[in-house]
Amino acid sequence: MLNIILMGPPGAGKGTQAKILIAKFNIPHISTGDMFREAIKEGTPLGKLAASYINDGHLVPDDVTIGLVKERLSKDDCANGYLLDGFPRTIPQAEALEVLTKEIGREVNYVINIDTPKEELVSRICGRRVCKKCGAPYHIVNVKPKVDGVCDICGGELVQRPDDNEEALNIRLEAYTKQTKPLLDFYAKKGLLKTFSGKSREELTPQLLELLEGK
Ligand code: AMP
Repeated sequence: MLNIILMGPPGAGKGTQAKILIAKFNIPHISTGDMFREAIKEGTPLGKLAASYINDGHLVPDDVTIGLVKERLSKDDCANGYLLDGFPRTIPQAEALEVLTKEIGREVNYVINIDTPKEELVSRICGRRVCKKCGAPYHIVNVKPKVDGVCDICGGELVQRPDDNEEALNIRLEAYTKQTKPLLDFYAKKGLLKTFSGKSREELTPQLLELLEGK
């Protein structure tokens, strides 16, 4: 069973690797960032609350985020594995996740950390574009679509996330360093952490597959 957490700073390529892994192993992709963006798009009360934090780069409060994941992880489709992307991001989230997954018998068995140098993150994030419809990621230099501004997969419009600018990124990186990085130690102590150094998508994917196929 693959119960995976994918970690790494914003721009490390978590979303890109996640999409490959969930297709390969047929497990649900639980991205709290995607869930919040969906709620924002739908204009729900959760979306309104989340937007006030996300757009300028701050973390959404723990109680809200934990509640969301609790509900999602308890669903039937997570019984045969799951991939958490962007959660947990704080120690209280990791502790809550531990309690919850023990309760429901779905404990995490892989924590994958994608380590990427800061200089690389800025250019990746500021040049990132995403499909408004299906969320597929692009980059203005590194991963260009066939037709400018149009998604290769679904034809949707490519847009820039409101938090993908240098100002919000600085706040996100600070949140990562102060609140998320301590989790590396938390999971290393449990013997779950596997760190991969920042590489191109093509180099990293086979290494992740090799790790996960071993089980
Ligand atoms: P992401 O798509 O993972 O980069 O997440 C985008 C934004 O959503 C983050 O910068 C946070 O504002 C919010 N967010 C996503 N996951 C979490 C989390 N686990 N805890 C708090 N805020 C989160």
